[in-house]
Amino acid sequence: LMHLTRKLIEIRTMLLSIDQSDTLKLPSIVVIGSQSSGKSSVLESIVGHEFLPKGNNMVTRRPIELTLVHTPPSAGKPSEEYGEFPALGLGKVKSFSEIQRVLTDLNLAVPADQAVSNDPIDLRIYSPNVPDLTMIDLPGYVQIASMDQPESLREKISDLCNRYIQEPNLILAVCAADVDLANSPALRASRKVDPLGLRTIGVVTKMDLVPPEQGASILAGNRYPLHLGYVGVISKSAGAKPGTIVRQAEADFFSNNRAAFGATNSLMVGTDTLRKRLMDVLESSMASSLHSITNAVQLELEEATYQFKVQYNDRRISAESYVAETMDALKARFKEATQQFKKPIIRQKLKAMLDDKVMDVLEQLYWLEKRTPELSDIAADPKIKPQDVDAFWQHKLEAASSLLTKSGVGRDATLLVADGLRGLIDSIAAGEPFNHHPSTADRLIEFSHAILRDRIGVTADQVENCIKPYKYEVEVDPREWEIGRTQSVDLFEKEVTMCETKLKDIRKKVGGSRRLGYLIGYVRSLEQEDKERRAKAKAAREPPPPPLPLENYKYPAAQVLDARQALLYNDRLSVLKLRLAALKSKRCRAGPDNDSLCPEAFLNVVADKLAYTSTMFINIELLDQFFYQFPREIDSRLLYDLDRKEIVQFASENPAVKAHLDLQERKDKLEEVMKQLTSLSTLRTDPQPAQRRN
Ligand code: GDP
Repeated sequence: LMHLTRKLIEIRTMLLSIDQSDTLKLPSIVVIGSQSSGKSSVLESIVGHEFLPKGNNMVTRRPIELTLVHTPPSAGKPSEEYGEFPALGLGKVKSFSEIQRVLTDLNLAVPADQAVSNDPIDLRIYSPNVPDLTMIDLPGYVQIASMDQPESLREKISDLCNRYIQEPNLILAVCAADVDLANSPALRASRKVDPLGLRTIGVVTKMDLVPPEQGASILAGNRYPLHLGYVGVISKSAGAKPGTIVRQAEADFFSNNRAAFGATNSLMVGTDTLRKRLMDVLESSMASSLHSITNAVQLELEEATYQFKVQYNDRRISAESYVAETMDALKARFKEATQQFKKPIIRQKLKAMLDDKVMDVLEQLYWLEKRTPELSDIAADPKIKPQDVDAFWQHKLEAASSLLTKSGVGRDATLLVADGLRGLIDSIAAGEPFNHHPSTADRLIEFSHAILRDRIGVTADQVENCIKPYKYEVEVDPREWEIGRTQSVDLFEKEVTMCETKLKDIRKKVGGSRRLGYLIGYVRSLEQEDKERRAKAKAAREPPPPPLPLENYKYPAAQVLDARQALLYNDRLSVLKLRLAALKSKRCRAGPDNDSLCPEAFLNVVADKLAYTSTMFINIELLDQFFYQFPREIDSRLLYDLDRKEIVQFASENPAVKAHLDLQERKDKLEEVMKQLTSLSTLRTDPQPAQRRN
């Protein structure tokens, strides 16, 4: 039968880990008593060591779930004695004063304003000298609230005790012999939940402090009968040094007073009797719970099995498999996304960037140049041979080309591609499933940005170096020229459309083209006046006059500003149209000989060559390197770095995965418990209930 309690204690621990609900509960012995009733001394004498927190200032602030595991000597060698705090991972704690220290720290960690906490401390003690028992030590009832203890403390403690003394637990009500039992808060509380004392054992401490006859009469329990009876103990003797446990003194006391205590067989005295009694009662209580708990576990198991089938189709997962799948998915996702970084796409993007640069160069050197309309005239005049064109235009073209090639293409092109990669990583990190794993997402971003940072400098230099020849000379063949020319025509047409759209918007905004016409006329007249006033001031050697203040405008200032914008677009449009005509002219179509007359076509070819070369080297220096390193970094920084605890932590960050794992674990544990329960009932072929004394 010894075997049974022990097994059931194991099962009880497993059930506690499955859930804290009341359906799946095997009994434990709950120890209650008022402060100083001798509660700690009794527990310590059962364990045979001092290990509970001591001090004047109410040191038990959290319930202690104490599991005692009897370890019989093996092969003639006494087995070792140690404690374990499963939640703390301290391993075997072999010294009881160390256990005491840990318990004290855990208790003192409860904030003073809370005073008591409902969160139990799990402590297991393995020893050849303890019986197989589970006991729960609770804070002692407070008799007189003291200054430094909050008002509500008394209530909090009794709430906590009430929660634990419910069925199926057994109650160990500790009372001191020298205090009237009528005043025992422990007995009072137990009577409320167990009026007949069917699951309450009374422990009367300090038997040495009252005359033997008086002690015996308490134990007889006539005044406050308990079905399971009272046990009288002495766990500290009045004279003994603090810290000594007084087995011998106790034995001597009861044998010296055999007259009082041995008179009838029914009086139970001594710590050994108490231990035996607790074992018997716990065992028989557990045995009688066996049937109902087996049923309850069966039901829970069926439910969990059903849910597992319905919700997950019996698919088993593990935290490890989730991590591995997530990383594989990440690599796959990344690989798929790298399609956007194929050479033709990169080249196209770089070309677009360079087209913008070309437009800037054209604006700077040609559109703002007063002589630019001449270019169209020359182009339209077949008599002027290419070699007769003013050298001015040749210089201008060279300046434009060099402005473009020296605009920092290496750096800009590299950054453009690197930004694309960053954007890709950032969007992966922000999406499923990394939205559940913020710290992993951060690490992902961090290391991929680090790879990029490493490569950007080298790549930019390499690209810049490779486009260097174009800074000196660009050779253009007729085929390239024609492509460049038609692309320029396209770009200009787009630009024209863009300007026209803007103009249309402005027209609509100010209220029609007539209105815009007035406004533009007004702006022109303003400009004219301004010019005249400045000229006058200059002639009179006066400082230039300030422009007309906004509030003096004939029209609303915002509209005047719109009209100014419209004027700019108008000017831009006339240049663009002029240049478009030139680009489409015979001269421009004839080929690269006329490059100085058609700078747009020439610069487009240059841009294309720059884009081509940049793409090649960015591909080698940045993309290939990144695509090689990235999956390896995933392995080394995200995957291999994780220990078991972090893997579990990672998996449980994802709510769906956590729910799956929780249910699976619950089902597994219930299966295991069920297996053990079944093996127990076959083991108990003789279902004889443990005898009850009394
Ligand atoms: P707790 O506050 O209920 O845990 O009580 P303790 O175990 O700390 O005991 C309170 C006081 O009573 C301590 O000073 C103990 O030494 C003393 N005490 C406990 N048990 C006995 C006993 O059986 N006989 C005597 N004489 N004193 C005891």
